[in-house]
Amino acid sequence: MKLLSLELKNYRNLQKQVLNPHEKVNIIYGDNAQGKTNLVEAIYLLTGQKSFRGAKENELLKFGCENAEILARFFSGGREQEIKIILGKNKNIYINEIKATPNELTGVFNSVIFSPTELSLIKDGPSERRAFLDNAISKIMPRYSAILQNFNKILYQRNTLLSEMKYNKYADKSLLTETLFAWEQSLVKPIYLLINARIRYIDRITPHIKDIYREISKDKEKINIEYIPSIKNLPTDMDRHKCEEIILKSLQDSRQEDIKNGYTTSGPHRDDFNITLNNISARSYGSQGQQRSCALALKIAECRVIEEVTNEKPILLLDDVFSELDKNRKHFFLKQFLDTQIFITSCDKTGIQGIKSGKSFRMVNGEIYSNQK
Ligand code: ATP
Ligand code: MG
Repeated sequence: MKLLSLELKNYRNLQKQVLNPHEKVNIIYGDNAQGKTNLVEAIYLLTGQKSFRGAKENELLKFGCENAEILARFFSGGREQEIKIILGKNKNIYINEIKATPNELTGVFNSVIFSPTELSLIKDGPSERRAFLDNAISKIMPRYSAILQNFNKILYQRNTLLSEMKYNKYADKSLLTETLFAWEQSLVKPIYLLINARIRYIDRITPHIKDIYREISKDKEKINIEYIPSIKNLPTDMDRHKCEEIILKSLQDSRQEDIKNGYTTSGPHRDDFNITLNNISARSYGSQGQQRSCALALKIAECRVIEEVTNEKPILLLDDVFSELDKNRKHFFLKQFLDTQIFITSCDKTGIQGIKSGKSFRMVNGEIYSNQK
């Protein structure tokens, strides 16, 4: 997959900019607050995912503007293709000039982002790790986002009811319990589908992570990764029928506890995964460098799985992370991605020396200046 050109209109501080990238390495450098991350954020939106900074869509419009536009030409599936995203009150997406929904963008344009947040994937709380899984799976399983949205909608309804039962002591308990049961029944299927997809994804990245980490640690440490569902006693074969029974029972068994808390205490929204190095938790005991290497291994594995599924290397976006890697990791990293189109942002060019071919772009106040390297 290669991005051939990118045109931005009123996207954050990029008023009207065109980027014609190199097919391999592209370095975007400049002082702080010039628009480097804005540029890679716009590229990332072409995947159909939300901004990796957690920004709301209206924050992406240049101050005072009602619309923004991202137009990308790229090479994928043996042909030139185009995605146009118009942001504003009405969001419009066109894939090869045909109107599409955000979910239809899944798999059309693939890109993986490494940013400082990703490097804290190991040491921070479980929500970061769940977000990693949800995001990575959405890119290769078009239905996943819809299942997740549906789950969140029903979960919200159950939580609203739980909170009402917690605070409104005079409400008709039997009616509320009946409604609660209805929500629980509707939750069973999406819960099963989400947990099963996540476990399958972990199984899929495991051999890659082991392979990558073996090389990073020069065979000194063994990495392992395991999904930890908050609903206990699910069978290891994830048999659907058995799982659904256990999920429903678990929701019902935790009712009193859930009413006391005013929210649903178990389910995919409370799950986690654990990474160990030589059987010891990387989160609790890993050094900064080990945690960094684990995060790197996770992201590289994500790229490899996308490549397995789509037969194409996703575009890599490295926002503010490359210059912070030590020499060995930089070398290892670049070796992994020889035929990949990469976008690297950095404040100063010294941290990215050693990259010999490609293009560099200087970003000044939302304007891109191209220098052939
Ligand atoms: P750093 O090196 O500090 O990471 P950067 O070059 O990556 O900096 P960005 O985060 O891309 O900087 O851009 C930040 C600039 O974009 C800020 O000056 C900010 O005010 C501006 N900006 C952000 N959103 C908008 C918007 N919606 N409209 C106009 N300008 C915006
Ligand atoms: Mg930045």
